[in-house]
Amino acid sequence: MAKNSSRAVGRHFLHIPGPTPLPDRVLRAMDTPIIDHRGPEFAKLAKKCLEGIKTIFKTSNPVIIYTATGTGAWEGALTNTLSPGDKVLMVETGQFATLWKKMAERIGLKPEFIATDWRHGADPKAIGAKLREDKNKEIKAVCILHNETSTGALTPVADIRKAIDAANHPALFMVDTISSLASTDYQHDEWGVDVSIGGAQKGLMLPPGMSFNAVSDKALAASKTAKMPKSFFAWDDMLDMNKVGFFPYTPATQMLHGLVVGIQMLHEEGLENVFARHHRLAEATRRAVKAWGLENLNKNVAQYSPTVTAVMLPEGHDADKFRALALETFNISYGSSFGQYAGKYFRIGHLGDINDTMLMGALSATEMALALAGVPHKKGGAQTAIDYLVSAHSATAKQAAE
Ligand code: PLP
Repeated sequence: MAKNSSRAVGRHFLHIPGPTPLPDRVLRAMDTPIIDHRGPEFAKLAKKCLEGIKTIFKTSNPVIIYTATGTGAWEGALTNTLSPGDKVLMVETGQFATLWKKMAERIGLKPEFIATDWRHGADPKAIGAKLREDKNKEIKAVCILHNETSTGALTPVADIRKAIDAANHPALFMVDTISSLASTDYQHDEWGVDVSIGGAQKGLMLPPGMSFNAVSDKALAASKTAKMPKSFFAWDDMLDMNKVGFFPYTPATQMLHGLVVGIQMLHEEGLENVFARHHRLAEATRRAVKAWGLENLNKNVAQYSPTVTAVMLPEGHDADKFRALALETFNISYGSSFGQYAGKYFRIGHLGDINDTMLMGALSATEMALALAGVPHKKGGAQTAIDYLVSAHSATAKQAAE
């Protein structure tokens, strides 16, 4: 915004990797009078949500809906299935994996943390090797992030399942799908995940403050003997009350109104189309980054994230200053950087209710900001993204015509 102005003109370009921009339809759905959370109208709403969310996780088992952010659902997953002192295997893919590991330590679990350089997702081979070494089956759970939001690395969940099975290990399999759910394919049942952890504020296009545990029969069985202390996050009370469309406490009613519409919108577009759109926008972003001559933090091409791209700035250029300049001048927000790479990269979020035109606004703003900040780069990244998007759409149109 202009130096002598207190008003940023036009829509803000929210390109952090969640919370994502709210569709007007979701906002409107939430803008409704509060209803009695023990009344019949609420029960209908809750049942719609509890059934609908299963179609997003692709599960026929129950999904717990927490009135809490994703961090709460992490805690729910661990405390409902494990006992104090249990060993869990985690992978240091980045900041969020590190936070989950810290939580595990704080609540009395014993995480073993497989190190990475924060430039790769989790490696099925490394997990398989650790499980084979665990002759006494002391590892009670393998916990990974499908998408590490802090670095933009997507881990192949089905391959990790295969590695667990190949090691013939009984550990539970827990997957954080907070920044991948409803943006790229996720199959809780098919991939043999025991607890999937989701959040509302990314692909589901809702505000922050709601999160999920999708659970397998094995996880439910484990919850009967798990001894970690829990109260708010306990599954048993929740599942009992959910059967009749209620919650053990006052749930976030307005969020549930939003959830119904978020799910409806995803199905109207078609999940496959939602995934294709995210992959197209991600590819366009990566091509722009490459054309600028900048480096993707994620070094593993096979694990590029469909929802967020972390862009390294050349030595001597501060990514936080770059983000501040872009915000002030072009009204765009990017995600920040973490850990050993703090200040060295920024993240472009390309998930949720965004289309090609919105992405091109963001990439054009990025190219302008790079020039304004004096970051050495080649011109033409935005044009490269345009060319890719046009070719992707013409290929789709050709296929449809055949
Ligand atoms: N896990 C992942 C992959 C995330 O991206 C986030 C937040 O962005 C979290 C966990 C924590 O979720 P919340 O901030 O909603 O508590």
